[in-house]
Amino acid sequence: MARAMRTAEKVCAERDLQLTPIRRRVLELIWQRHAPIGAYDILGSLKKHEGALAPPTVYRALEFLLEAGLIHRIDALNAFVGCEMPDSEHAGQFLICRSCQSVTELEDASITQLIRKKALAAGFAPDAQEVEIKGICAQCRKRADA
Ligand SMILES: [Zn+2]
Ligand SMILES: [Zn+2]
Repeated sequence: MARAMRTAEKVCAERDLQLTPIRRRVLELIWQRHAPIGAYDILGSLKKHEGALAPPTVYRALEFLLEAGLIHRIDALNAFVGCEMPDSEHAGQFLICRSCQSVTELEDASITQLIRKKALAAGFAPDAQEVEIKGICAQCRKRADA
């Protein structure tokens, strides 16, 4: 997590973005979890540790982190995960475990390019493409075999 925070600081400094205390705190909470975390859980944790915050403040912080590429939104889980490689522009493909809800990010530019190419060929102008792949993760599969 310390490494993730350092990367976030670096990315923000390079792009002239401000990692304000609340943005930093929300990002820390997302990394602490090691699993996708929803906005309500983030609000709950903040409330426990630093007193109630207005939900819009937290939503704005999430919006900022998303735009900066520091986190991703997993629509299927209505939750957020930290991005391991925010310093490279990417769309991301996510392996989502149905059993433990863990999320692993694949970053394969060739998949992104192929989807873009196919979409354009169909006359469609794609502007966002997070790919969510559902299944059972390696650890859960091992557990099932045992
Ligand atoms: Zn990512
Ligand atoms: Zn799993």
